[in-house]
Amino acid sequence: MSFFVYIIIALGTFAFMEGFSWWLHRYVMHGFLWYLHKDHHQKVPGHFEKNDYFFLIFAIPSWLCIMLGVIYKNYWVIAIGAGLTLYGIAYFLVHEVIIHQRIKWFRRIDNRYIRTVRWAHKMHHRHLDRFNGESFGMLWVAKKYRDKVKADSIRNRK
Ligand SMILES: [Zn+2]
Ligand SMILES: [Zn+2]
Repeated sequence: MSFFVYIIIALGTFAFMEGFSWWLHRYVMHGFLWYLHKDHHQKVPGHFEKNDYFFLIFAIPSWLCIMLGVIYKNYWVIAIGAGLTLYGIAYFLVHEVIIHQRIKWFRRIDNRYIRTVRWAHKMHHRHLDRFNGESFGMLWVAKKYRDKVKADSIRNRK
């Protein structure tokens, strides 16, 4: 297989992870693993959250795919591992750094897309309990949030 195919596999894995994370967040983190996610909605003192365990969900499969792919010289498994790793990095940068600002990087970054993901996630955090949630995705944002941010930025331009 050509190199191009592995790029497609990695990007496909990345896109799949956005959907999978939505499902996981909606039905697992707000479901039977709520006890791990609760402190992300109801802040407790301290720098770390139980919610941080969810990093393992990205880290362990990424590590396994890359390690096993290298051992068995299976390049499409490495490509899947690369896609998982990229998604884990995106999750860290977008959710932890850009949205929640747990690390003081890119604080001045601002464009309509950034404002949209921040707004959509803010709407997610408006709900302090596990029920009646909204906006469970991260990078892909529903139209109603995009429209709201678009309307705001048009209004602010005047
Ligand atoms: Zn949540
Ligand atoms: Zn959050």
